[in-house]
Amino acid sequence: MPSTCPCNPHKTYKTCCAIAHENIAAVTTAQQLMRSRYSAFVMGNVNYLQHSQHSSTRISNHEADEIGQWTKTVQWVKLEVLTTTQGLVCDSLGTVHFKALYIENGQLQIIEENSSFVREDGCWVYVGEHTC
Ligand SMILES: [Zn+2]
Repeated sequence: MPSTCPCNPHKTYKTCCAIAHENIAAVTTAQQLMRSRYSAFVMGNVNYLQHSQHSSTRISNHEADEIGQWTKTVQWVKLEVLTTTQGLVCDSLGTVHFKALYIENGQLQIIEENSSFVREDGCWVYVGEHTC
């Protein structure tokens, strides 16, 4: 268990993404879910990545295994949340625009995505890249 949270070095894991990883129903905002997914990438928690994705776009067990292998080979640097729309306690959909930085084969790589989130069965889940 990391002591600081992968998504935010100013918080402890226990008071940040552990809450989501232990009980996805405790996630109140789309940004919180996005952060918990980043931390799950860093920690290789592929079950959580599957569980926190909408049933219509959810990755297969095979894809989850591949992500689990890949994430062990890279060094995650940080998450930057750029902007969010909606996704708050009273909303049922929202977007989070973020950058995730990691080092792969000695090269800094950046994933930048404006992601869509919705509530499914009351819980925030990731749908995919936001399209207008
Ligand atoms: Zn966190």
